[in-house]
Amino acid sequence: MKFNTKTIHAGVHPDPSTGAIMTPIFQTSTYVQHAPGDHQGYEYARTQNPTRQVLEANIAALEEGKHGIAFGSGLAALDAVMKLLNAGDEVIATNDLYGGSYRLMTSIYGKLGISCKFVDLTDPANLKNHLTDKTKLVWLETPTNPLLRILDIEKLCAIAHEAGALVCVDNTFASPYLQRPLTLGADLVLHSATKYLGGHSDVVLGLVITASEALGQRLYYIQNAAGAVPGPQDCFLVIRGIKTLHVRMERACQNAAKIVRFLQKHPKVDRIIYPGLPSHPNHEVAQKQMRDFGAMVSFDLKGEDPAAGLTVLQETHLFSLAESLGGVESLISLPAAMTHASIPREDRLASGLTDTLIRMSVGIEDVEDLIADLNQALEKV
Ligand SMILES: *Cc1c(COP(=O)(O)O)cnc(C)c1O
Repeated sequence: MKFNTKTIHAGVHPDPSTGAIMTPIFQTSTYVQHAPGDHQGYEYARTQNPTRQVLEANIAALEEGKHGIAFGSGLAALDAVMKLLNAGDEVIATNDLYGGSYRLMTSIYGKLGISCKFVDLTDPANLKNHLTDKTKLVWLETPTNPLLRILDIEKLCAIAHEAGALVCVDNTFASPYLQRPLTLGADLVLHSATKYLGGHSDVVLGLVITASEALGQRLYYIQNAAGAVPGPQDCFLVIRGIKTLHVRMERACQNAAKIVRFLQKHPKVDRIIYPGLPSHPNHEVAQKQMRDFGAMVSFDLKGEDPAAGLTVLQETHLFSLAESLGGVESLISLPAAMTHASIPREDRLASGLTDTLIRMSVGIEDVEDLIADLNQALEKV
């Protein structure tokens, strides 16, 4: 089966009791047994739920893995991956990563004896320099947020594996439509399905995917033992969202490219960050490992007045001012004042995250309307 067919059919079967074509929401906590231990494969819903299993089989197929394991949120999924480690182990993570991932690794796992180093991995040599024999996990996120840096998954996996470390790639920003890290050597893939997989800004859910039988079994064990499972209704919403992943991603990427061309010609726009531009420092890596360049675009206005950025945010009407990304509707945000406000200003500036940097999650509306909306907002600056 090819990718677009898999989004709709992989792991999905008509319900055997009714023929319902859509996966039923099995809203049950327990299952009746004929005799103790004599049941139909389902005992208790933390351990097994048929709606969840369909989602898990579907995402495993999309990422070209063997096992998909679902959790109550993207961070619960990361928490499960961290539970594969032991006290004394070290993690090397890319330094430009999701704030919630940073918080979980440092403030929760730091105190449990797992130390995390945050390193600029756009240069793979940096990984080599920081690996020790205690490094058990390398954490990649690509593209990153909001600077859209691209990491070379294949090269970094080769270096990590030589040192005996596992590699997990947070594939939230790309989705399996744009890149499939397991085929580039990663051991684990993580998704905040809250974003592109769900696709409609109506659910919070996380997924981990692996092609390894041993890692899959350990993660199912953690899923059941720690119990951070998603509810069946949320699994249903993500199954439904994934059915249109390919058409949504294709349109969102096209819209983003057209918006970039509009911004390039606008006299008030300064730097544009988009991996599809040849001027992007990691453009070649993006071209090599991604099918298209994604639907996230960041840009700076000329001048250093943070109020100018706020004007654009407040004057756009189709672009909603909100955190998050990956829904059908376009969103706009000011990372320095919103998602990244907790990072000290000097650190933010040093990494290229200016006070005026505007980030957009481009949706699937008519692009002419989106451009007109941006244009009238920029006129008010
Ligand atoms: C949102 C997000 C997460 C966290 O996922 P939740 O579903 O909000 O817990 C992790 N990584 C990335 C890149 C994200 O954007």
